[in-house]
Formats: sequence, structure tokens, C-alpha cells
Amino acid sequence: MTSLPLASGPQGPDALRPLVDVVLGALRDGTRARGGPLPAGGPDAVAAAVRDALGDPLPDEGDPQALRRLVLALAAGTADPADPLCAAHLHTPPLAVATAADLAASVLNPSLDSWDQAPAASALEALVTRALAAETGAADALVTTGGTESNQLAVLLAREAHTGVRLVCGAGAHHSLPRAAWLLGLPEPVIVPTPAGTLDPAALDDTLTRLQGPLLVAATAGTTDAGLIDPLPDIADLCAAHGARLHIDAAYGGGLLFSARHRPRLTALDRAHTVTLDLHKLGWQPVAAGLLTVRDEADLAVLGHRADYLNADDDTEAGLPDLLGRSLRTTRRPDILKIAATLKTLGRTGLGALVDQVCDLAHEFAALIDAHPGFELYDRPTISTVLFRPARASDDTVAAIRRKLLHDGRAVLGRATLDGRLWLKTTLLNPHTRPGDLTALLALVERADPAAAADLPEGHTPT
Ligand SMILES: *Cc1c(COP(=O)(O)O)cnc(C)c1O
Repeated sequence: MTSLPLASGPQGPDALRPLVDVVLGALRDGTRARGGPLPAGGPDAVAAAVRDALGDPLPDEGDPQALRRLVLALAAGTADPADPLCAAHLHTPPLAVATAADLAASVLNPSLDSWDQAPAASALEALVTRALAAETGAADALVTTGGTESNQLAVLLAREAHTGVRLVCGAGAHHSLPRAAWLLGLPEPVIVPTPAGTLDPAALDDTLTRLQGPLLVAATAGTTDAGLIDPLPDIADLCAAHGARLHIDAAYGGGLLFSARHRPRLTALDRAHTVTLDLHKLGWQPVAAGLLTVRDEADLAVLGHRADYLNADDDTEAGLPDLLGRSLRTTRRPDILKIAATLKTLGRTGLGALVDQVCDLAHEFAALIDAHPGFELYDRPTISTVLFRPARASDDTVAAIRRKLLHDGRAVLGRATLDGRLWLKTTLLNPHTRPGDLTALLALVERADPAAAADLPEGHTPT
């Protein structure tokens, strides 16, 4: 007979409180031990530290210190997007309120595959998904694990609506779109070259004129590499004129909907059949928090599925909500809780302010780069992505600078090849980052550049 406490039930909160204290203490200590945006020393050093902390992964006798040790090791070895110099990817620092809500989701552990496992969570999901769908002019929305699953579902719904449909997308579209076409057995996608970074309406028009058969055009609102937004109204017009179905991947740019200032840049989102949103990007949610909004509710009918133990006909007729058709997954976490808690705690104004802040910050960073003779700016930011490179550096040097900063645990920058050259990428998602942090980032990049170091006056040792 075990006495190990459970997280839920009447004793749950009291059992959990000391453990949460252990976790919070280990997070604090681990973060202090790291002392920067990511651990120093590279993959070998990190793997060795984790191996030490873990020891035997499945010992014969349990170790009561395991929780503290493992959380500490993970915190000490994490890439922390709350550090202003951790700014490579669409990797967001989660809001404390969302994370606290996620704790409740883990405690209650509702599973959204049947009403009898998630009575309130399924009701909450129904309300919040419809409200978020309405933001894009859609009828309904499905909760997903992120942009990849949303894009897969969008391609699946297109395939079910139009047998033999072919995917058409720009060269800057997310890799998950062609991959979904492969997974779902669609014909080879047509990739439209995008020399200017976004889908060119004239090139798309040519492509749609040339191709026979049903087509699914996937436009992007916020490319992963540069944060560019395709000309959505023009693309929607072309899809209407050619009878093509339209999906908009707004995994990154969808967050602009919360900002009164930036929302107009997503005009025509309501003309898409499906829209991918990803609130673990510009929505400050812990992973996972994806959505796919669906304009025509009837499109969702193809996901309907019966499993007698989850949604027997007579249960559904008697009024128990049928949840199986809302996902291809079975067991499913209530990711909607943290989303709902965030939307309601911050409101449109609070979320919009976060969006405005990171967009403003990106402009300030671009201005800093532009004013610096040692750096070249790719372009003014569209959302919050800023690409730059040391002036006159080779691609190999740019790549080496990035890896040196990673290895030293000084900064996490991304990379993107655009215009045939390699750029350092910062995706600014941290609303606490200040321009001074970005000045410091530029100084770090300068010091990591072997050419710049060679230019330093005699006797000056770069640190
Ligand atoms: C991040 C991203 C995705 C993939 O989303 P995941 O949540 O990582 O699955 C898809 N499309 C775009 C444009 C993205 O930026």
C-alpha cells in the first residue's frame, strides 16, 4: 500500500504545496547557476551535467531528492527565453499566469476526448475556441499542439473537400506545409519562388492560371525566417478568381490580432478557409497552444469519428457532447485553460500592449544596427524579427559567430539564409527586453567576430 500523495482530490493541494516549493527553489537555484541565456560549454558539457544529475534513470530504490536535482539540472541547462539575449527562435517566455493555469491543468488532468473525462474543460474549450475563431472571422477553431499540427489539419480538410488537391505555397512557407502534403499523400507541392521574401501576386496568378485541378494556396502571415507577411488581400482575390482554396499560416503573425495598431495588417484573414494560430509564439503561452480556425463549420464534419467507449450514438443523442471530431488525437490536454486565463487576465489591451512592445523593440533594434558602421541590417522589421550581419563578414564567419556565442553561453541567435547570404536572426518576443540589452548584444557579436577581434588595438584582449 503506497502513501505517495496524488495531485488532485481533497488532499491534492496540501500534498502539492511543498513539492511546488521544491520546484520553485530549484528553478531559482538552477537559473542562478546558469547565469546567462543558456549553459556554457556546448552539447558535451551540458550532456555531462545532465548525466551527473540523473545518475541511474531507473534505480531499484527511489531517490527523494530526484525532483529537486532534475529540475535544478534542467534550469541550469536551459535556453531561457526570459533572458533578453535568448532571442533566436519563435520561442516565447511564457507568462506566469499562463504557467500557473497550466499547473491546474496538470493537477485536474482532464482529457478532451470525451465529455465524461472533461465536463468543464470541454465547455470552456467550446466557448474560447469560438471566441478566438471569431477574431479571424471563422465559425470554429480546433486546439492543436502548434503550427505544424494546424497546418496538417488544414491540408487534410482541403484534401477532404477537394479530391486530388495540390498545395501551392511560397518558398518562404513553413516546412510543415510541404511535409503535410507528403504525409497526406497529395501530389508534389508547387513552390512559387519568392525573391522579395513574400508571395508575389503576379507570380501566383501565373501559377494558378497554369495549373489544372483543385488547388490549395497556403499564404503566410509572419514567415519563420524574416517575419514577413504575404499580401493577403491580393492572394485572397486571386484564390477567389481561380477557385482555389486558401489557408493562411499565421502561426507567428496571428498575435497581431490582439493589437489595435497592428491588427489591420491581417486584413483578409477572414477570407481564408482555414487559419493557423500559435499562441506559444506571439501569445506568451507555455507549449503547446496551437489553433486552427475554420471558416465553414461543415468542413469539420470529415473529422467525425465513432468509438463506442467515447461517444456512443445513444450518449450523443442523449446530449453528451461528442469531442472526438475536434482532433485527430485521443487523449488531449486542456491547453485551453491557460489560454483562457491569459486572455481574460490581460484582456485585449494587455495582450495588445505586449505585441506593440516587441514590435517597437524590433524597430529600435533595427535602428541601432542601421546606425552602427560595423553591421548591416537586412531590412526594417515587419513583426519582431530583425536580421543582421557584421559588415564584410563571410557566411562562414557569421555561422562561426553564432556558434561561439552559443558555446560560451552568451547569446542565442538564430540564422537565416536570405538574398543568398547568411544572416544572424533575432526574434524578439520578450516584452521585458530593453534597448540597452540589444546594445549589449551587438557588442557581444562584435567581440565574437574574429575579424573585429583582429582589428582591436595592440594589447587589447577581447573577453
Ligand atoms: C512556428 C511556425 C510553424 C510551426 O509551429 P509549431 O508550433 O512549431 O508546430 C508553422 N508555421 C509558421 C509560419 C511558424 O512560424
